[in-house]
Amino acid sequence: MPTCYACGIETEFDDPCVECNELMNEGVIFVRVHFDKEGEMHRTGQMAVVEYEEAIDNPDKVNQILKDRVAYIPIDTWDMLGLPVPHLDQESIGGV
Ligand SMILES: [Zn+2]
Repeated sequence: MPTCYACGIETEFDDPCVECNELMNEGVIFVRVHFDKEGEMHRTGQMAVVEYEEAIDNPDKVNQILKDRVAYIPIDTWDMLGLPVPHLDQESIGGV
C-alpha cells in the first residue's frame, strides 16, 4: 500500500493524500521527525503548515522544499524554529 509522503498515512496512490494536498495549497508542510541511533527517520506524527516566506531561511534546501512541498524537520530544529507542536500521544513518537 503506498503511503502519503507528507503525513505517512496509507493512500491509494504514492502521492500526497487529499488532506495534505489541501495543506500544500496553503504553504509548505513541515513534518516533525526523529532520527534514531542508526540515523533512520521516524515521523512523530506532528506537522505544521508554513507559508513560503518562512521556509526560505535555508536557501540550499528551499528549492527542494518548494518542489516537494514537504520538509522533514528534526525535533531539535523544530523546537529551535519555535514551530507549534500539536498535541500528540507520546507513543506515536516511537522509542524516544
Ligand atoms: Zn497526507
